[in-house]
Amino acid sequence: MDFEFSEELKMLREMAYKFAVAEFTPVSRECDEHEKYTPEIRRKAAANGLVGAWVPEAYGGAGAGILGNAIITEELSRVDMGIGLNVVAATFGCEAIYQYGTEEQKRTYLPPVCAGEKVSAGAFTEPNAGTDVAGYKTRAVKDGDYYVINGNKMFITNGTVCDFMVAQCITNPEEKRHSSFSLIIVPADAPGVTRNKIRGKMGIRASDTAEIAFEDVRVPRENLVGKEGRGFIQLMHFFDTTRVMVAGQGIGLSVACLETCIKYCKERTAFGAPLGSFQLTQKKLTEMAIMIEALRGLVYKSAWLIDQGRPDYTLAAMAKFFSGQTAVFCANAAVELHGGYGYIDEYAVQKWYRDAKILELYEGTKEAEILTIGRTLMAK
Ligand SMILES: Cc1cc2nc3c(=O)[nH]c(=O)nc-3n(C[C@H](O)[C@H](O)[C@H](O)COP(=O)(O)OP(=O)(O)OC[C@H]3O[C@@H](n4cnc5c(N)ncnc54)[C@H](O)[C@@H]3O)c2cc1C
Repeated sequence: MDFEFSEELKMLREMAYKFAVAEFTPVSRECDEHEKYTPEIRRKAAANGLVGAWVPEAYGGAGAGILGNAIITEELSRVDMGIGLNVVAATFGCEAIYQYGTEEQKRTYLPPVCAGEKVSAGAFTEPNAGTDVAGYKTRAVKDGDYYVINGNKMFITNGTVCDFMVAQCITNPEEKRHSSFSLIIVPADAPGVTRNKIRGKMGIRASDTAEIAFEDVRVPRENLVGKEGRGFIQLMHFFDTTRVMVAGQGIGLSVACLETCIKYCKERTAFGAPLGSFQLTQKKLTEMAIMIEALRGLVYKSAWLIDQGRPDYTLAAMAKFFSGQTAVFCANAAVELHGGYGYIDEYAVQKWYRDAKILELYEGTKEAEILTIGRTLMAK
């Protein structure tokens, strides 16, 4: 048992944080206010090895593993979770190509994304089905050497800025629901693809989110990822990895809340004493610190297990669930500790409060995580 990070991971952590402070801080407020996506920051991050850090070097990544990627995600989210998402989710969808794609697909799609030249997306959720993954309706009908795709996707991260997306489609409607799906790579510029940016998000407003329509989109059959009819199970395994990476966001945001609150509680006085001298205030800070440490344990262990080739989907669901709980708790406590100042946009805590909530919604709602964990417990 060794809880010490390697020198490489320590350096990666430091580099990621310094990068975020230098690049994110100057534009953070503007991106939040104007819902502005930042391609130039993503490209700079790629030049520093921060995009697709989990991808092995053979496919253009930094070979830092899922643990390295979770640490990067944590440090970027400590500064701005939305801009950080533009960096770490630039490869979203590529996890499936890496896990199930052909050698040719890996060599075609992974290197340009890691280099910052291209962006991918994972198009799964639909207007009428999110949690109910087997309820998706998008159809891909075989026509000679092509699939012809029709359907709608909703809330797709990188939707309007991506070059390609990995989409979940029904290819085998004659099979039972769970065996009817396949993952297919769809070029974003293919005729029949329409993409509309969704505006007015509560938080992570620097991130691009879109609704996408497929109308008779013709895609070569070679764009199938993995096996036909295996899309559902492939997607479930895909989430085992991506949930762990997303869970890292909650650590970073919570650390930002705690660090800011400690400073504020030393400076701000009430009743002739610093806020931090009151035990009720210390209780909030203490609970934040405990949750952050517990969350780190869950995220790092589940990431490490993936890197060891032993992914644990229940632990991944726990990490993701607790990430949302921790981030929402810490952001709420941070607003409260700042009093009225926590409620105005001069202070970053109100932004973190808005950003935190997404961790209980995307990549599986907190209820979906509970269902996963509960099923495992009852199967024992
Ligand atoms: C900013 C943002 C980015 C996103 N990025 C992506 C992306 O890149 N790709 C993508 O495919 N999707 C993405 N999503 C979609 C996200 O994953 C879904 O919104 C989420 O999975 C929930 O699906 P839904 O919105 O359809 O809610 P629903 O599934 O309709 O759920 C509504 C509520 O009912 C609860 N519920 C549903 N079923 C059950 C049940 N059986 N038991 C108990 N409670 C239940 C849910 O937990 C939730 O509280 C994104 C969403 C947002 C907001």
